[in-house]
Amino acid sequence: MSMNLVTLLYLVASVCFIQALKGLSHPTTSIRGNLFGMIGMTIAVLTTAALIVKLSETAGLSTVGGLGYVLAALVVGGGAGAVMAQRVEMTKMPELVAFMHSMIGLAAVFIAVAAVAEPYAFQIVHTKGELIPTGNRLELFLGAAIGAITFSGSVIAFGKLSGKYKFRLFQGAPVQFAGQHMLNLVLGLATVGLGLAFMVTENWTAFFAMLALAFVMGVLIIIPIGGADMPVVVSMLNSYSGWAAAGIGFSLNNAMLIIAGSLVGSSGAILSYIMCKAMNRSFFNVILGGFGGEATTAAAGGQVQRNVKSGSADDAAFVLSNAETVVIVPGYGLAVARAQHAVKELAAKLTEKGVTVKYAIHPVAGRMPGHMNVLLAEAEVPYDQVFEMEDINGEFGQADVAIILGANDVVNPAAHVKGSPIYGMPILEAYKAKTVIVNKRSMAAGYAGLDNELFYMDKTMMVFGDAKKVVEDMVKAVE
Ligand code: NDP
Repeated sequence: MSMNLVTLLYLVASVCFIQALKGLSHPTTSIRGNLFGMIGMTIAVLTTAALIVKLSETAGLSTVGGLGYVLAALVVGGGAGAVMAQRVEMTKMPELVAFMHSMIGLAAVFIAVAAVAEPYAFQIVHTKGELIPTGNRLELFLGAAIGAITFSGSVIAFGKLSGKYKFRLFQGAPVQFAGQHMLNLVLGLATVGLGLAFMVTENWTAFFAMLALAFVMGVLIIIPIGGADMPVVVSMLNSYSGWAAAGIGFSLNNAMLIIAGSLVGSSGAILSYIMCKAMNRSFFNVILGGFGGEATTAAAGGQVQRNVKSGSADDAAFVLSNAETVVIVPGYGLAVARAQHAVKELAAKLTEKGVTVKYAIHPVAGRMPGHMNVLLAEAEVPYDQVFEMEDINGEFGQADVAIILGANDVVNPAAHVKGSPIYGMPILEAYKAKTVIVNKRSMAAGYAGLDNELFYMDKTMMVFGDAKKVVEDMVKAVE
């Protein structure tokens, strides 16, 4: 295979990846987007395999040996990935994504270490013992440092998202201490200093010391981040993993890795920006703050019991049937309960009775970007009933009923209260509806660990229970 053909095939794969990103931007085109991604990746992998054969032959090395390692890694990694992807529940997707980011970061670190140790084998230098060119040393330093930060940061993010984070007081709690920002700054400067020392001198000790500091920084950057900022963190780590891959792509002189890494890096950065905008936060606030981390006493379990109005699924069905307009607010609990099909049925029954039903989607509802859209698309909810926050917020005031199913933070009016840890975060203004029905299992807090005044309002009726069971009961009662 000629190098021209390799370049052409890599170009085709890159175009497929761009089409994949384009397709994934809307539920209607997402299957096509995924197909493009799969085709692009297949072309990229096969072309790389052919390239390995070609390079092994040119270098007079065993073709079987080189390709054998790659095939073994593909079988082990691909097999593990396939099993995990098949088993993972939708609500656990962010953890899986964080795990994958950590693996990309670690792969970048391993490749950088291997390239520093054996630059001749990586064709960075022409003769054994020659120094690595300064430009390549810079790429290796950046790729390794970003990879290390991505790895340890993603491990912590995984722990936070899965709730297995041993040092937490409650899920998503930030770990903050005096002088934290100063420590991060000093470590950051030391990492850059050591990286530059490696770049100038090719000193191994400087390289490994830089790597160790980068691992520590990954942990320190993520631990102070509060629960409500986790969506931004997930997409930020996504972006880092792309840049780490792109950095290593330059060292390996591999156009495919550079393009794919840059696509992931830039799309992750754009997503982080969109998330920050959706949360009314600046990127630096996310990195430096502990937004949504301070639990109220209720969340910590120490608050005096307050009264709420509660009703049954039948009561809720009666209110819904007599409404003219109903806005459904789905949240994380709906995903946990897998109640999307039941909700669609409820909406269909209400529509049959002449009720206008709309769904309101908050950009960070659930546990991953676009979570609610994916969930509703799975249940084949008509797209024209689904509205984004900025398009539906103006309608809550006229809605007869807002029914909140397993959502909490995204409808928490504390976001309008100065001094609240989530002050400034845009919310779905469900509290403006004439009647509010809230379904959840208890009075427990949401992901950000905050109490929610909406539950105590006079016009609010709580319907306790698992979302699927409650909604199915509502469907029966509406019938
Ligand atoms: P929340 O996590 O705020 O609240 C979900 C609510 O669902 C809980 O209060 C819980 O109450 C209830 N619940 C859980 N299981 C069930 C069930 N089986 N049936 C009925 N109710 C249930 O969810 P929101 O969607 O409102 O907000 C998302 C939060 O997650 C935000 O803080 C966001 O920042 C964060 N986040 C979002 C990510 C994203 O990319 N979208 C990524 C990471 C975090 P109870 O236990 O009483 O039932």
